[in-house]
Amino acid sequence: MNDLKERYQNIAQQLQQAAERFQRPIPQLLAVSKKHPAEAIETLYQLGQTAFGESYAQEAIEKQQQLAHLPIEWHFIGPIQSNKTSEIANHFSWVHSIDRLKIARRLNDQRPDELEPLNICVQVNIDTEASKAGVAIADLVPLCEAIAALPKIRIRGLMCLPSRLGSESNEHDQRLPFATLAKLLEQLKQTDSLDAELRQQLDTLSMGMTNDYQAAIAEGATIVRIGTALFGARTA
Ligand SMILES: *Cc1c(COP(=O)(O)O)cnc(C)c1O
Repeated sequence: MNDLKERYQNIAQQLQQAAERFQRPIPQLLAVSKKHPAEAIETLYQLGQTAFGESYAQEAIEKQQQLAHLPIEWHFIGPIQSNKTSEIANHFSWVHSIDRLKIARRLNDQRPDELEPLNICVQVNIDTEASKAGVAIADLVPLCEAIAALPKIRIRGLMCLPSRLGSESNEHDQRLPFATLAKLLEQLKQTDSLDAELRQQLDTLSMGMTNDYQAAIAEGATIVRIGTALFGARTA
């Protein structure tokens, strides 16, 4: 528990220092709590952390029930199967991993009227690897145009999960995919076929994890998603 406090304070300091070094805004920290217990989330919450990211719907909802007394902002960041959209639409404020219209439509249809529209990031396949999640760069604009028509979904920006680079990777290499994502967001903001109000709300670059958040901040990340550096290694 004291370790958690130390790591949290250390990360907060690292984010601030990186922002200064690269003359960028300090990004929001999304604490990625998948595979870690509700107790650890509560400890971080008491230290001031309010946004938590989860990758598995069932696991997340169990922890949400245990922590129902805390006004936590929950973000879903994992792959989404069609049969999980109802749970996600009902229990999260943000989803970072939208890469198909079908999933966005289901979330829209299942989002309860009494909740705010669901904030989403479109996940981009920045490495153009066939095996990876994320929309192909060529399909990004049409996907956003279609999602823009969904009233209970609010597009906030873009997310990426670059392939892990080898052990000799350096900050320069790490920055390349993040620079591409930042450029895509800029282009999206200039896309005339998207309505002006929607373009104005595009303020989010969800990029950077434990191993590469410095590089992501260098390229203008507004949300970094950090698990291991905060909670320690995940078992199982
Ligand atoms: C697990 C996960 C993270 C956090 O990764 P760490 O390396 O533990 O910081 C961030 N983003 C996504 C999409 C994840 O699945």
